Amino acid sequence: MTHREFEGWDEYNRRLTAATSTGNPYWAQLPQSERVMLDEGGKLFFTGKLCMREHISPRDANRCCTQCNVINMRAFYDRRANVV
Ligand SMILES: [Zn+2]
Repeated sequence: MTHREFEGWDEYNRRLTAATSTGNPYWAQLPQSERVMLDEGGKLFFTGKLCMREHISPRDANRCCTQCNVINMRAFYDRRANVV
């Protein structure tokens, strides 16, 4: 892994506090933005900001919240199960 440009202590602490509040402090080690994630070739980044459904969760390459992805996927399979 190459050295990542540092976001600054204020920003890092904000993300760390957000990550810790969810019980997942290691999320703060993810890239802080989509741009940094793309630079590093990773698949997830963590902004520490709330998503549309107010989750604090890493986001994927589509900028979608990973917890929302689980909800959407479950809804998709539930719909399909009801159709068949
Ligand atoms: Zn979400």
